[in-house]
This record gives sequence, structure tokens and C-alpha cells, in this order.
Amino acid sequence: MSIRQNLHHYLQLIPEHVKLVAVSKTKPVEDIQEAYDAGQRVFGENKAQDLAARQKLLPADIEWHFIGHMQTNKVKLIAPFVKLIHAVDSLKLLNEINKQATENQRVIDCLLQFHIAEEETKFGLNYEEACELLSAESFTKMGNIRITGVMGMATFTDDTNQVTREFKQLSAIFHQLKSNYFKSQDSFCEISMGMSDDFQIAIQAGSTMVRIGTGIFGSRNY
Ligand SMILES: *Cc1c(COP(=O)(O)O)cnc(C)c1O
Repeated sequence: MSIRQNLHHYLQLIPEHVKLVAVSKTKPVEDIQEAYDAGQRVFGENKAQDLAARQKLLPADIEWHFIGHMQTNKVKLIAPFVKLIHAVDSLKLLNEINKQATENQRVIDCLLQFHIAEEETKFGLNYEEACELLSAESFTKMGNIRITGVMGMATFTDDTNQVTREFKQLSAIFHQLKSNYFKSQDSFCEISMGMSDDFQIAIQAGSTMVRIGTGIFGSRNY
């Protein structure tokens, strides 16, 4: 199947209120252009250098999301244009994003990443750590970032019950944060969860944003 066909296949399965982020990491620019020509406008990358290089080569109306683990020294590469940073898990990183956003005279939207999987290797906060972060004086003074929701990755497993449990946990975290910290902020509305193999479970559990790579572009060769 072509990229266009894959894309339309996913768009048929994804309800309208859920945003599809096409994860183009490691794929050639031509593939991104093909998805763009098929109507896709939201793309996700996980390496800052790649993202910065691709943004220069591709149409200006693409909405670029950064979905990977962000290193503080790379924020400046994407700060001029990035639409959403999905995986923020420290005050130190938020501080740098705020600084670079200020220099670019813009507000950068960020999601807080939560650790919901059993695997040790994945990044992310737990609920208490997020509360600490959101209550920190330095955070309340950051004028150039906006927290618009949460993000997480489930365990890589065939056990759909476990994946369901983990996604529901992220949904619960979102609602708890919403009522405790963001009650009056309509912009706090995103739950970024679900990838090629588990997006339907994620949508069932309340996802508002799915990140699909291999399902659209085919498998990656690293
Ligand atoms: C690569 C990646 C995806 C896409 O994964 P697929 O299984 O290829 O759909 C989604 N989210 C993050 C954070 C990723 O790094």
C-alpha cells in the first residue's frame, strides 16, 4: 500500500476529535511530501537536528511536533517553529524551553510525559513529581510555555489488558491534573497516547492525539 492509502486507512479508523500525528522519523523527505500531498499536515520527529533540517525543506504550513526525549542543548534548534513538544519530564527542560521561546517571542505548547509502562527504560514523571513541578515557583513564573496536556507510552506487549490499564491510568492522571491545576484553562485538553499497534486501545481509553509511524510510512531501517 502507498503512503496515501495507509494514511486514509488510519483516518477512517480515527474519530474526528482525535488528531493524527504522522511520525516521519528516519524516513526520507520525499515520503513526508507524499503524505503532505495526500492532505496530512501534522508530523512528528524525535531528533531535533532532523526536525530542524526537514522544516527548512518542506512546506511552511506543516505543524511540526517533537515527540522524543528532548535534550536541553537541542531546544534552540526547534524553538523558532515547533508547534508542540510531547515529552517534557523535568523543570530543567521546561526552563530551557521557556528561555528559547522567550528569545523567539513566542509561546511553546508542551505536554508532560508520564511513566505509565512497566518497562524501566521509558522516561516520564509520576503524579507526585508532576504536582511538584507544577507547584514550583520557577514554573509559575514561566510566561512563554503553555502546558496543554499529557503524553505517555504503554508497555510493548501483546497483553491488551495491560495496555488498556496503562492508558486508562494516563487518562486518570489527565483528569486529576485538570481539576487540580488547569480547571479554568480550556487549552489543557490533550492526551497524547497510542501508536501504530495500540492506537485503537488508546482511543478507547480517551486519547485525543495518536502518533503513528510504521503504519503510515512502513517499517524503519535504523
Ligand atoms: C516512533 C514513535 C512513535 C511511532 O511509533 P510506530 O510504532 O512506528 O507507530 C510514536 N511515539 C513515539 C514517542 C515514538 O518515538
